[in-house]
Amino acid sequence: MSRSGNVGHYDIVIIGSGMVGATLACALAETSLSVAIVDALAQPPSWPEDAPVDLRVSAITPAAERVFRRLGAWPGMAQRGVSPFREMFVWDALGGGDIHFDSADHAAPYLGHIIENRVVQAALVDCLLAAGQVELISPVCVQALTFNDDSRARITLDDGVVLHGRLVVAADGGRSRIRQLTGIGVRGWSYGQRAIVAVVETSLSHQETAWQCFHPQGPLAFLPLRDGRCSIVWTTTPEEAERLLNMEAELFCHYLAEAAEGRLGEIVAVGERASFPLQLQQASHYVEEGLALIGDAAHTIHPLAGQGANLGIIDAAVLAEVIISACADGCDWASREQLRRYERWRQGDVLRMMAMMEGFKRLFADVPAPIAWLRSAGLDFGNRCQPVKRALVAHQLGQSTDLPPLAVRAADLMI
Ligand SMILES: Cc1cc2nc3c(=O)[nH]c(=O)nc-3n(C[C@H](O)[C@H](O)[C@H](O)COP(=O)(O)OP(=O)(O)OC[C@H]3O[C@@H](n4cnc5c(N)ncnc54)[C@H](O)[C@@H]3O)c2cc1C
Repeated sequence: MSRSGNVGHYDIVIIGSGMVGATLACALAETSLSVAIVDALAQPPSWPEDAPVDLRVSAITPAAERVFRRLGAWPGMAQRGVSPFREMFVWDALGGGDIHFDSADHAAPYLGHIIENRVVQAALVDCLLAAGQVELISPVCVQALTFNDDSRARITLDDGVVLHGRLVVAADGGRSRIRQLTGIGVRGWSYGQRAIVAVVETSLSHQETAWQCFHPQGPLAFLPLRDGRCSIVWTTTPEEAERLLNMEAELFCHYLAEAAEGRLGEIVAVGERASFPLQLQQASHYVEEGLALIGDAAHTIHPLAGQGANLGIIDAAVLAEVIISACADGCDWASREQLRRYERWRQGDVLRMMAMMEGFKRLFADVPAPIAWLRSAGLDFGNRCQPVKRALVAHQLGQSTDLPPLAVRAADLMI
């Protein structure tokens, strides 16, 4: 790394230190490569000790947890607060079918953890600062990006600083500026839905269970928090979301309890409410010479299975693995040829997940009564059929996919 005045030279410049970009930076911190990471927001994120639980939380899978543990970031998350969920209960509001998953049936202590996004990000940035190998540049936005004839990138920041890098990694989210500046197109569509998020208090215990009810307008999820409350993600039409966001808290609680069919009793209190538009989006390609897209910059999916951040964290672990092994083999790790290994490794998994989410969304849409009946029968069958349940839980636990070394179970590493 070399930085003099307004110009810096690095091997790798990562744009975006959200959960995904910060994971990649941590994974590269121990290499001999010089790395800079840039974010528009001040880093590390800080918030007062008595701040309420953030509205943005993620269900983090055991595979992503293993990545965080191996990078040394998990203790920082655990100390700030993580909420395990041991069971999952999913039901169909129209047909009445349901399916129940219990970690104990699969010899696992839990199915995952609910963690505030800012907690994940802060713990990763702490690790970066402690390692002292990665330069963290914030708060500043990328303004321009060009590639020289020798394929080195020239990144101009809005404070006038210019960074040069052999590889630029776009980890700057669904509306990626880097993707726009490099002219990489996206395929996809808006779901025509919004997700309302809030933290609520319920009269019945959540029992460390993630609850999800499918309505024709979209799914409603209650994610258990360690203080006994739940973080909700309520997907519905934009018009209905607008109405629910603007109504009195008491009335909102009433409608929410009704939508949850009373499974968690009354909704006693609700905090601040916000909503996000939902879209399915996939970049036409994830890599070019000297450029890679990871996380939401490469793909965004429906939050119904809580997989967007998890996919991005595995992207980061795979890209780090590809770069590190190309370095070890003496190859040009920033060449398109080497980066294609990352693209090939990840695109299949992402497309499978997108297809699954799309299938779920359509299956639970407003369908004729016979299909709703079949759907519920299917859920009930799945609930009784152990092989189906085992396959679904194995996926949730990260036992069944083609994982990079940072994410595989210790037992699988030894094989
Ligand atoms: C309602 C909802 C619920 C969800 N629940 C889950 C869940 O339970 N589990 C799960 O796995 N996923 C979930 N997701 C998806 C998850 O939130 C995203 O996939 C994840 O946040 C993507 O992380 P990222 O780091 O790729 O992007 P982001 O989190 O968007 O981070 C991008 C970073 O880049 C920075 N940046 C942007 N532009 C610039 C620029 N020009 N210059 C410099 N910096 C820039 C930003 O400041 C930010 O820090 C959910 C999504 C929604 C909407």
